[in-house]
Amino acid sequence: MTETNHAEASEQRGLNFVEEIVVDDLKAGKNDGRLQTRFPPEPNGYLHIGHAKAICMDFGIAEKYGGTCNLRLDDTNPIKEDTEYVEAIKEDIQWLGFKWGNIYHASDYFQQLWDFAIRLIKEGKAYVDEQTSEQIAEQKGTPTQPGTPSPFRDRPIEENLALFEKMNSGEAEEGSMVLRAKLDMANPNMHFRDPIIYRIINKEHHRTGSKWKAYPMYDFAHGQSDYFEGVTHSICTLEFVPHRPLYDHFIDELKEGKDLEDHRPRQIEFNRLNLTYTVMSKRKLLALVKEGLVNGWDDPRMPTLCGFRRRGYSPEAIRKFIDMIGYTKFDALNDFAMLEAAVREDLNARAIRVSAVLNPVKLVITNYPEGQTEELETVNNPENAEDGTHTITFSRELWIEREDFMEVAPKKYFRLTPGNEVRLKSAYIVKCTGCKKDGQGNVTEVYCEYDPESKSGMPGSDRKVKGTLHWVSCGHCLPAEVRLYDRLFSVENPGADERDFRELLNPDSLKVLKDCYVEEFAATKKPLDYLQFQRIGYFTMDKDSTDGHLVFNRTASLKDTWSKKNK
Ligand code: ATP
Ligand code: MG
Repeated sequence: MTETNHAEASEQRGLNFVEEIVVDDLKAGKNDGRLQTRFPPEPNGYLHIGHAKAICMDFGIAEKYGGTCNLRLDDTNPIKEDTEYVEAIKEDIQWLGFKWGNIYHASDYFQQLWDFAIRLIKEGKAYVDEQTSEQIAEQKGTPTQPGTPSPFRDRPIEENLALFEKMNSGEAEEGSMVLRAKLDMANPNMHFRDPIIYRIINKEHHRTGSKWKAYPMYDFAHGQSDYFEGVTHSICTLEFVPHRPLYDHFIDELKEGKDLEDHRPRQIEFNRLNLTYTVMSKRKLLALVKEGLVNGWDDPRMPTLCGFRRRGYSPEAIRKFIDMIGYTKFDALNDFAMLEAAVREDLNARAIRVSAVLNPVKLVITNYPEGQTEELETVNNPENAEDGTHTITFSRELWIEREDFMEVAPKKYFRLTPGNEVRLKSAYIVKCTGCKKDGQGNVTEVYCEYDPESKSGMPGSDRKVKGTLHWVSCGHCLPAEVRLYDRLFSVENPGADERDFRELLNPDSLKVLKDCYVEEFAATKKPLDYLQFQRIGYFTMDKDSTDGHLVFNRTASLKDTWSKKNK
């Protein structure tokens, strides 16, 4: 079956094409019926939502079919790696709800890989090249033109062994020489044109210290690590398709040509996750952090898992989204709005409803006795009765949204305007009687009268009025800072744009509102509790929040106002 047919057939069975392969292999009794996968991040940055797609596949498929998924830290380049990232990676995987079998490190195989390289040199299958990287690149040829052999290609084995030792001892300078596999300078697959398999890096490794100076390249480490661990299905992204023959080649060498179909990891590739209005490259994300263009890896505008977590996304919503987009063999750009839709759907079911006023103006209920207060009961979550209720205090002076009053209103304005009636959520129906303005004509207070017979829940109180407004009591609320987040980039596909990605940042991606009020109950919540500010959107308390200075992040607006705004 061709791959496309295969993908179509699996869809009919409700399985994605990777599952289909795994199921077939298990049925055929391959690998003694074992299923072992790995998630192999390089600890050179924080995990982003693209990694979540790989995590859901690697861990998810093992979980579903009774296998194991290990966490392998692909730490073969000490220049960019750090233990800070290792810890963050573990936290994020657990947050998504997955458990690894073992934790492995590619650096644990440095000795085995070194020994393997020595063997290849001794068998005349690898050589030390002392040309510059530019010279080596020039000799690679093109897909239609064969490459030119290096003048060092046929140097004596003893010389290669001695130089390879020097690469690792510190005697040879960084960049002065590399070890290359002697394969085929005319192979149509460019990866076979004597790939570099070791280079010198003079930097302490976060796990092996200064023991090694010669470090294996990805292509010489990844497949072998899979093989050493007993991985059965090595699932990765499409850019590794052209590497697959090399992956197989080194494993065949390692097995010395024996039992080639036996216990051999199989590489399977799926499409990367790309999201509109953001970037997924760790290099670019690191630059945003280092250059202070965002406030750290967990800035709620970042596509990192810690950023989404801080913003108030739930792990379930992210997994739901990954499920929705699925796994295919074709690269695509996924719509950020689809992720937000998954987040809204999830939060609608779980968020606790509270009242907050972001742009306050005072509402005075002139016929409500001064000094009187009432405790009103309000539902925590209409989607889930088990979430219960809490009380909110009502009084003569309330904060309402400035947008909820207009002195002269258009016809279909169902909020406060003189003569009009609205319900105050969980409280009374009030009728607007007017307002007070300052010298510049700005409204400073809105006036109304309440109907004592209209208290929510009272018999006969359900007289129809068109609008319901949220409010907080001036004497029973807390000041808060509210951070509104929008798309990080102002173009749909910043990765494909010719301009520098820094020029494409959305200047309005963060708006800070300093003079907001939240009901007291909201302050009893913790960072990561899921909240809905009624009529406004989904919010969560930020980690910067203190008792004296509450800070909330907007997770998502209630509706997708964004796609309309931009079309
Ligand atoms: P970068 O090239 O930006 O450094 P990477 O892809 O090399 O990122 P790794 O840490 O090597 O990052 O990735 C670990 C695993 O996550 C790999 O198997 C990789 O294929 C997968 N992965 C990374 N980015 C995505 C993505 N956008 N969509 C799906 N899987 C991804
Ligand atoms: Mg990588």
